[in-house]
Amino acid sequence: MSDCIFCKIANGEIPSNTIYEDDDFRVILDNGPATKGHALVLPKKHYADLFEIPQEVVMGAVKVAQEVAGTMKKKLGCDGLNLVQNNGAAAGQTVMHFHLHIIPRYENDGQHILWKPTSPSADELVAIKNEILG
Ligand code: 5GP
Ligand code: ZN
Repeated sequence: MSDCIFCKIANGEIPSNTIYEDDDFRVILDNGPATKGHALVLPKKHYADLFEIPQEVVMGAVKVAQEVAGTMKKKLGCDGLNLVQNNGAAAGQTVMHFHLHIIPRYENDGQHILWKPTSPSADELVAIKNEILG
């Protein structure tokens, strides 16, 4: 995708703060980080989102994220870590090239990467299950 910024970054056409690279992936520091060390796993090939990306590439991205997560813990001393992956504008995706956020978390870092729980009834949950399975 010639007009995709993450294609250009992943393939080295635009410089980035790269913390990991192999034949298929580049991991860069997010330039608007939620916390110290917030990084993005970018596949070098263009896939818009989880619905498009082949299963083996997703599995590769998660493997890379696990490796980098270990490095974050060792080098940055994070207390926890969120993996976040947004698909579609409705879910907050702003760059339409699949990416996996690695967000190191620190006690009292002031970030909130959680949702507001709702309270469906037991019947409503069964109806949703049936809708998914039907
Ligand atoms: P999304 O909301 O699509 O899941 O996340 C996009 C992320 O990419 C955001 O956290 C944003 O800060 C980051 N980002 C957007 N453009 C650039 C860029 O040009 N360089 C870097 N390093 N990060 C970017
Ligand atoms: Zn792309």
